[in-house]
Amino acid sequence: MSGLFDLSGRIALVTGANTGLGQGIAVGLAQAGADIVAVGRSAPDETAKMVAAAGRKLTAISADLGSTEPIARVVAEAGPVDILVNNAGIIRRADSLDFTEADWDAVMDTNLKTAFFLSQAVARTWVDANRGGKIIQVASMLSFQGGLRVPSYAASKSGLAGLTKALANEWAGKGVNVNAIAPGYFTTNNTEGLRADETRSRQILERIPAGRWGLPEDLAGVAVFLASRASDYMHGAIVPVDGGWLAR
Ligand code: NAP
Repeated sequence: MSGLFDLSGRIALVTGANTGLGQGIAVGLAQAGADIVAVGRSAPDETAKMVAAAGRKLTAISADLGSTEPIARVVAEAGPVDILVNNAGIIRRADSLDFTEADWDAVMDTNLKTAFFLSQAVARTWVDANRGGKIIQVASMLSFQGGLRVPSYAASKSGLAGLTKALANEWAGKGVNVNAIAPGYFTTNNTEGLRADETRSRQILERIPAGRWGLPEDLAGVAVFLASRASDYMHGAIVPVDGGWLAR
C-alpha cells in the first residue's frame, strides 16, 4: 500500500517553496521521497534544511514569477521533473471601488498567467518525451467563493479552478494529471492582514468546524496523494483542505 504514495526517485518543481504553504508542500513531498527544485525570488534556505533532514536534495532556481519572462530558463535549468506545484501567489486587499489596475494585473499575472504558462512549458517537455506527469495548482476557498475586498485574488483563484479543469480535459489522455488543492485559512504571510484584524480573524475561526487555522504541514498528505500513483485516475479535481469551512 505504501508504494502507492512513494515518490522515491521523483523530482518536484515547487514554486514559492521558501515559506508558507509551498514550504509545507515541498517538505511533505520530500518526506515521501522526492527531490525538490524550488523556484522563487527569495532563497529557500530554511526549506533546504528541512528537505535535507528528510534525506532529500533541494536545488534552488532564482526567478521572479510576476511575469512569464523567466519560464523558459526555469524549465531549462530545472531539467526533467515529474511533478509541478504552482504555489507562488500574492494577494492585494482594497475596496473594489478603489481597486487599482496595478493590483489587478500583479495578482492575475502571478497567480494565473504564470501558473498557466509554466504548466504549458512543463507539460510540453512531458509530451515531447512521450511520458506523463503530475501538475498541482494551489487554488483557494476563493475558487468557490467571492471573499471581501480581494477582487483580483478571487478572479485569479476562480480562474485557476477553471484552468485546472480545462487542462485536465486536454492532457488527461496524455498521462498528465492536473488537479488543484484548495486550502482554507492557513497561518502564513498571505493571511497576516486578516489575522491582524481581530473581528475578521474571530469570524473566520468561528466558521471553521475543526476549530483552528490550518498549518502548512496540513497540506502535505494531499500534495503527496496528488503527486503519486495513488491519484493516477484523478483529473480536474479541486480538493478542499479547509478544516470543514466549505461544509458550513
Ligand atoms: P506566502 O507565505 O505569502 O507565500 C507566497 C509564496 O509565493 C512565497 O514563496 C513568495 O515568495 C512566492 N511569490 C510571490 N510572488 C512571487 C513572485 N513574483 N515570484 C516568485 N515567487 C513569488 O503565502 P502562502 O499562504 O504560503 O501562499 C502560497 C499559495 O497558497 C498562494 O498561491 C496563495 O494564494 C495560496 N493560498 C493561501 C492560503 C492561506 O490561507 N494562507 C489559502 C488559500 C490559498 P517571497 O517569499 O519571495 O515573497
